[in-house]
Amino acid sequence: MSDQLALVDHHVHGAATESLDDLTIQSMLTEADAPAPPGTTTWDTQLGFLLRRWCAPVLDLEPRAPAAEYVARRAELGAAEVNRRFLTALHVQEWLVDTGYQTDQVMTPPQLAQASGTPAREVVRLEGLAERVIRAGGSAEGFAADYAAALDAAVSAGPGRPAAAGLKSIAAYRYGLDFDPAPPAPAEVASAAGRWLAAIDADPGARLTDPAVLRAVIWAGVRTGLPLQFHVGLGDPDARLHRSDPGLMHEFLLATQDTGTAVMLLHCYPYQRQAGVLASVFPHVYLDVGEGMNHVGARSGAILAEAMEVAPFHKLLYSSDAWGLAELHYLGATGFRRDLALIIDAFVADGAWSRADGDRVAQLIGSGNALRVYGSA
Ligand SMILES: [Zn+2]
Repeated sequence: MSDQLALVDHHVHGAATESLDDLTIQSMLTEADAPAPPGTTTWDTQLGFLLRRWCAPVLDLEPRAPAAEYVARRAELGAAEVNRRFLTALHVQEWLVDTGYQTDQVMTPPQLAQASGTPAREVVRLEGLAERVIRAGGSAEGFAADYAAALDAAVSAGPGRPAAAGLKSIAAYRYGLDFDPAPPAPAEVASAAGRWLAAIDADPGARLTDPAVLRAVIWAGVRTGLPLQFHVGLGDPDARLHRSDPGLMHEFLLATQDTGTAVMLLHCYPYQRQAGVLASVFPHVYLDVGEGMNHVGARSGAILAEAMEVAPFHKLLYSSDAWGLAELHYLGATGFRRDLALIIDAFVADGAWSRADGDRVAQLIGSGNALRVYGSA
């Protein structure tokens, strides 16, 4: 299989435009929100090793160069050159960019498109939009209508900006995937919005955590008909791991299966098998193993192979979930091609699959499924 397999990265963030020192790089190699314990380093992880193995040569170093050498070379080249090298070497066909996480520190979708020479469309974060709407001065009673109007505007094409490709929910961070699957009643939303407004009066930074408001924005998202991404599994300490198992969404998936809205389970690790089962029984459910792949490093082939066990081949997508380090964008695409080729080549060598079937499945997973679900710009 070609190392140029077409890929659509259906969930990614921008790369950082500033120069990064060692501690900042280390903070981007982990979901932990604190540094490694004294005397240790985040470079001593699968992701740290993966980066030294595959990214060092892109910066003209030997594979597996020591971390200190890597950090020094990165600083010497400067952020713009480092970003140019990684972002133009990976050849994805399109970025679908989640703009909801620490956006001030990374490239916007147009900046990412410019730096990589690859078109980008936006994925709108439902909770982030709600946090802007609630602070815009409207009433608790008017929140649902204000939100619907803001969502409509956020997903529509604007000057120099294509329509959004999809939506994303971080309910796993703010409550859990065991939210009540039913759409909330209007009175329930109004009173929850009122509680949230009061919380903002007391603390201007008060975030969206009320399950009734979360359900309201999720169902507003469902009603758009756009593919709806959910954070699942692995995340920073804000996400409760035991409440981010996609099996908890079973009733919600039953409630949405006739809506025409696709539900995209993101990352999934360590629940990739659970997500695969859901994708196999619900016609509107899809998955990727994006973020997990970089974080498990040399074990990524095993994770992808698990995702390919029971999930139908028309249900699996590629994403990098890269944020900040352009290395993550690069490792995501190049590693995924390498792992997918190894897995499929083994099936073909074994006589279990034909080469033609293997090539067709690689095309579906790499880009065909994403193009079918998200359409093109
Ligand atoms: Zn993400």
